[in-house]
Amino acid sequence: MRLYNTLTRRKEPFRPINPPRVTVYTCGPTVYRDVHIGNLRTYLMADWLKRVLLYLGYQVFHVKNITDVGHMRQELLEQGEDKVIAAARAAGKTSKEIAQYYTQRFHEDEKAVGILPADVYPRATEHIPQCIDLIERMIQKGHAYEAGGNVYFDVQGFPEYGKLSGNLPEALLRGVRVEVDPLKRHPEDFALWKAAEPGREMKWPSPWGEGFPGWHIECSAMSLHYLGAPFDIHTGGVDNIFPHHEDEIAQSESVVGGQVVRYWVHGQHLLADGLKMAKSAGNDYTIRDLQNRGFDPMAFRYLCLTVHYRSRLNFTFNALKAAQRGLSHLRRHVEDPAWKEISRPKGETAEAWRSRFLEAIADDLSLPRALANTWKMVHDPSLSLAERARLLVEFDAVFGLDLESWPERSRRIPERVWRMAGEREALRAEHHFQEADALRDQMEAEGFEVRDPARGPTVVLCRSRVEWKGYPREISSSKEVPVLLGEPTRYPVTVSLVAHNNWADLKRCYESVRHHQGDRRVQVVIVEGGSRDETRPMVLGLARNDPDLVLWLADHPLGEAASRNVALRQALGEMVVLLDVNVEITGDLFSALERTLEDPRVGGTGAHGLVTEDYQQFHEAPGPEVHAVTLYCFAVPRRILLEVGWMDERFRFYRHLDLDYSFRIRSLGYRILVTPNLPLRFHPHRVWEEMEEHERFRRSRANYYIFYRRWHHHRHLLSLPSS
Ligand code: AMP
Ligand code: ZN
Repeated sequence: MRLYNTLTRRKEPFRPINPPRVTVYTCGPTVYRDVHIGNLRTYLMADWLKRVLLYLGYQVFHVKNITDVGHMRQELLEQGEDKVIAAARAAGKTSKEIAQYYTQRFHEDEKAVGILPADVYPRATEHIPQCIDLIERMIQKGHAYEAGGNVYFDVQGFPEYGKLSGNLPEALLRGVRVEVDPLKRHPEDFALWKAAEPGREMKWPSPWGEGFPGWHIECSAMSLHYLGAPFDIHTGGVDNIFPHHEDEIAQSESVVGGQVVRYWVHGQHLLADGLKMAKSAGNDYTIRDLQNRGFDPMAFRYLCLTVHYRSRLNFTFNALKAAQRGLSHLRRHVEDPAWKEISRPKGETAEAWRSRFLEAIADDLSLPRALANTWKMVHDPSLSLAERARLLVEFDAVFGLDLESWPERSRRIPERVWRMAGEREALRAEHHFQEADALRDQMEAEGFEVRDPARGPTVVLCRSRVEWKGYPREISSSKEVPVLLGEPTRYPVTVSLVAHNNWADLKRCYESVRHHQGDRRVQVVIVEGGSRDETRPMVLGLARNDPDLVLWLADHPLGEAASRNVALRQALGEMVVLLDVNVEITGDLFSALERTLEDPRVGGTGAHGLVTEDYQQFHEAPGPEVHAVTLYCFAVPRRILLEVGWMDERFRFYRHLDLDYSFRIRSLGYRILVTPNLPLRFHPHRVWEEMEEHERFRRSRANYYIFYRRWHHHRHLLSLPSS
């Protein structure tokens, strides 16, 4: 087998230290919330690696740690919080209870996607003595020093630092903005042990006083404890390379005095809406989210099989639907259990398929290739149906889709489902149709279809959930929406509105558009982002009765910029007006905006103007000439849209998107003007007001950095022609 090693940056032949035994360490979850499917992609990668090794005849000893004392991440250091402790406090539980609860859920999620259990799941809190021992040895060898109850690793004393990530200490220094910790000798040093802050719940005695381990030390301690040195393979996601694994190498190797991990294997990220899936980006889904939408967790496994682990994979529900279809089709090939009766196919054709399969999986886990070959194999007429099914199940030892048990599973209707069917019948008999329908939906989500014959309930297994229940125009991304900007204008005005759990506001805003449009025809484009409340059915109702309303239903919240892009792509109005739903029009808004845009040099106008001197502080300004207008009401002439381009979809949250877009317009030489005294009433801005303080801060800051990085060099855009 050949395996890509992050350490050497090339594919290498895999040679275990003590064949046939192979030792593998996987960085596991931090158990203070459910893992998202991005995390699971990384654990699936480790699972496929293990299954390939087993298929090749190795014996695998697999350790996957459970981090039940919070990571020492920068953002959390700033908040002074430990993830596990913070979650416990919020839920009124002890850290231990929270950790136990989410550990249990993690095991359930892993099982749902067919991940083989590790041999050991060591918990960080149960290996504090090993951490302390390791730190003491680092201090003895002069690789670490104590300061104020903290212990730090001395990065300069470990010349090989940077060999995994390529991040050399000098380069790191340049990346350090504000040094937060005055106790460190050098800013690039990292914490091995931290003194407990007053009142901290999770803390342990140590030679340096009461405290708790740093983020990286647990993995050194537990991998050395369970696997010894050296061991064969260490896995994780690419974001673990630096600093986590770089620091782990420094810790372990400075104590052991030689190479500890032979092969470093890292999985690329799962993205959603083009961004790394992360709780903090708000684009994360759990396995349970997928199940609630009617998907089989195995469909996610199938989806991951279709892309090599070293490539990014952009998650969309449309892609998941395709995966669900693929899985259903594969299952059909094994549904007839006749294959269980025949012996392992041995002919030349079978051997040829086998060797192709082997070649693919042994080439750095080229599972997409192995899967494509398998698809060809199941359609090979020179093998009998039973032989093909038998081979498919053989290959599935690596794919891990649990096809072997499918013939039984496909026939079995669980007790629970029978009960639900009975309850539903009773509800229908009493004319509680809504509740009955809800039960039916729930059964469908679990893969069972209910038919209503003349007498009694019939639960029919939905064999292949080929059709995903959704609206015909449901989209996963703005890119699926046709661009109409090349067509002639058909309206004087297009208005863009974004619907997401905001029916009351949306309705008020929409009605005010219709009320004050005068004798113009105004095209309204609404993007509905997968609301969980009444918004979606209500908006569907609107669209049915309004021929000038274009409605796009998204299968998840697309984010602010992407939602606006849908409207920009669909705009047929000479002037495009982006409105926030907190705005209510009280007079002839459109004429006023049109007058400002009459001047061909004006590229945008709105109600509130902003100016800045340094791209850092923005002030409201009366204008008319300004740097930006806010997104509450932002009018752009349609003719410049193709030149300006789409909004940057990294802005999932509205803040600073208006600045970015305004600067885009200005960088092309157009002016941005305020139109004074617009007939608008501003109602409370719910998105903002219902958000917690630190969440506002975090999201605003993330957007601000995107804006700032792009524009702060463009000093010339700061001069405003005096008007
Ligand atoms: P964390 O809880 O952030 O330490 O992540 C647990 C594991 O999931 C680590 O191995 C990460 O590298 C991995 N991971 C985090 N986010 C993603 C993502 N979007 N795609 C793939 N793997 C991820
Ligand atoms: Zn780790």
